[in-house]
Amino acid sequence: MTIADRLNDKTLFQTQSFINGAWVKGEGAVAVTNPSNDEVIAEIGDVGAAGARAAVDAAAAAFETWKKVSPFERAKLLMKWHALILENADDLGQLITLEMGKVLREAKGEVLYGASFIEWSAEEAKRIYGETIATPFPGTRGWTTHAPIGVVGCITPWNFPNAMITRKCAPALAAGCTMVIKPAPETPLSALALAELAKRAGIPDGVFNVVCGDAQEIGPVLTGSDAVKMVGFTGSTAVGKLLMRQAADGVKRVALELGGNAPFIVMDDADIEAAADGVVASKFRVSGQTCVSANRIIVQASVADKLVEALEKRVSALKAGDGFDGSTDVGPLIHHTAVERVDALVRNARDSGARIITGGKPMVDELGGSFYAPTLIEGGSADMDVACFEIFGPVASIYRVEDEAEAIAMANDTPYGLAAYLYTRDVSRVHRMTEALDYGMVGVNAPMVGAASTPFGGVKESGIGREGGKWGVEEFTELKYVLLGGVD
Ligand code: ADP
Repeated sequence: MTIADRLNDKTLFQTQSFINGAWVKGEGAVAVTNPSNDEVIAEIGDVGAAGARAAVDAAAAAFETWKKVSPFERAKLLMKWHALILENADDLGQLITLEMGKVLREAKGEVLYGASFIEWSAEEAKRIYGETIATPFPGTRGWTTHAPIGVVGCITPWNFPNAMITRKCAPALAAGCTMVIKPAPETPLSALALAELAKRAGIPDGVFNVVCGDAQEIGPVLTGSDAVKMVGFTGSTAVGKLLMRQAADGVKRVALELGGNAPFIVMDDADIEAAADGVVASKFRVSGQTCVSANRIIVQASVADKLVEALEKRVSALKAGDGFDGSTDVGPLIHHTAVERVDALVRNARDSGARIITGGKPMVDELGGSFYAPTLIEGGSADMDVACFEIFGPVASIYRVEDEAEAIAMANDTPYGLAAYLYTRDVSRVHRMTEALDYGMVGVNAPMVGAASTPFGGVKESGIGREGGKWGVEEFTELKYVLLGGVD
């Protein structure tokens, strides 16, 4: 039976959470709605703190055997999971569009992106190397190993309901850890579908658990339980700080992927048409609801009119609509409140003197309560809300600067430091400016930076740790040093 069949007859989604290899029903029924039309597509019960504890116990028990499974065997199981995800990619893509609204081609792209972390991690499982070390003590040998850290609690967001799970779980499972995942209440279905496929792949019971329910009940179990050794989180900076404070009591490792305020800098020597394409790709993907979305378009004044013209042409042509409609460029936001938030930012910008070039209003009458018109604005003050806060919506806001120094000063004038973008064709400028940008990732003439092989993460209040590549696997291991005496 395919995932879509299961969704239709609700056999998968009447059950609620996935604990120790079994489907567990929770209390009550939290509606999961399609943001495009507000239809209820599933109702998910809450397993609460007790369910979270059961999942942690199951993960702790499973860790004792999973850590001893050979990395070659772990890699094989991960590759089976990967193959099943690819076989079901269409269904998984549809689930994403249904539960969070993004356009179907982006949803399918997310499934492939998510799967790529499983493939990469399966390969990497076999390459977790220790080192031998010279020691100052006669007759001794020293070496290191990377031991799996243990049970990992994961709290994931709704904007990438599939890939934010695989990006954490695949390297963790590859390293020998076991997982308890709490998905966002808006998007539990993708998580449950991944659990179903993990089970079909033969990943042992207890290794991959999904608990749905009240974040304020489940969160403290994950951050407070002795058995949990690490907490991985993608979401808002406010919740990330809260989890970090909670985890401090048990001195648990945290990996945090938090908010951003990405500058998209266009210098006078840039290819302006390519830069305009880049802004659209970075800003309007997932309706602007990604933590690496361009948040401030910073352009050198001498080429600003040209960029504004190129962007106006592109942004005014973007079609908002349902994610299943093949002609849609920009889908809905996650819910009505998100539209109200974005609209408040734009109204504040207008009050601060910004000019609305195109869009600038909700599309409640035309499309429904979760839609906001693709918007381009320019001007206003540097301290208006749209410049200071993560927009998380389809609004591009342009700021003019005179030179490199002003561009860098403005780009770095934020507590965030996740992704930045720079468009220039001057190689010296590339070095100078990428070194000066206080960001974890910089895309130069490239509007998207993430891949399974590369380190994803931020500095300052954008987070701690890196996901992806060899760094992503290392996050889930403890470095152990052994000194052996009496050798000579
Ligand atoms: P957003 O506002 O975009 O939903 P959040 O940071 O609130 O971002 O949500 C990201 C994830 O964090 C979701 O899974 C959500 O349920 C979870 N979350 C929210 N509040 C808490 C909390 N107090 N403790 C633990 N998890 C939380």
